[in-house]
Amino acid sequence: MVENEIITVREEEILDIEVNKDILAANRRLAEAAKKKLDDEGIIAIDIMGSVGSGKTSIIERLVEKLKGKYRIGMIAGDVATTIDADRVERHGVQAVQVNTGRECHLDANLVGKALEKFNLETIDLLFIENVGNLICPGDYPLGTHKQVVVISVTEGEYMVVKHPLIFKEADVAVINKIDLADVMGTSVEKLVKDAESINPNIEVIKTDAKNGVGLDDLIKALNL
Ligand code: MG
Ligand code: ZN
Repeated sequence: MVENEIITVREEEILDIEVNKDILAANRRLAEAAKKKLDDEGIIAIDIMGSVGSGKTSIIERLVEKLKGKYRIGMIAGDVATTIDADRVERHGVQAVQVNTGRECHLDANLVGKALEKFNLETIDLLFIENVGNLICPGDYPLGTHKQVVVISVTEGEYMVVKHPLIFKEADVAVINKIDLADVMGTSVEKLVKDAESINPNIEVIKTDAKNGVGLDDLIKALNL
């Protein structure tokens, strides 16, 4: 061992790559089936990913307030243990199905397929899927949605994008939330925007302060809703 050299354990030493590939391939097939089902029913589905506390549920609540006159909205809430988020959104008159994942730190297409069976799909035009609060593996598991949104907040610091490149590569839209707190936190919003755009030149970055209703119209436009 050379002194002062950082020892790293590579991904291929941790994961059984073959098993992992099979799981991801199976998920992809189930995601295609879920997408077909949604398309057949004329439902637009949006996967909202981001850490616990980034503001995913607040953003969904704001979008529901603005869009409930135009769409009949449903929600799937992924959470390790609680029904807090589903309860919050259901209060706005939205059909919500809770998926408690237990030990799993992400939703997968199989869980979404099971959740879809709980809805009367004919009564829904727009479906928000709030993923489990986590910025790592949700990017590996497409759910068959039409758009993937990743939410970060300035309170999480300025390295949130560069430390989670995969999810920003996969996402169509990045939301930087709680921009009203950027100065207080000393977080550069422009750095976060630049990082996201350099990882994924096709990503659309939207700045929001969901609590105060700022930026939601831009997000609606980015989602073509
Ligand atoms: Mg939430
Ligand atoms: Zn996970």
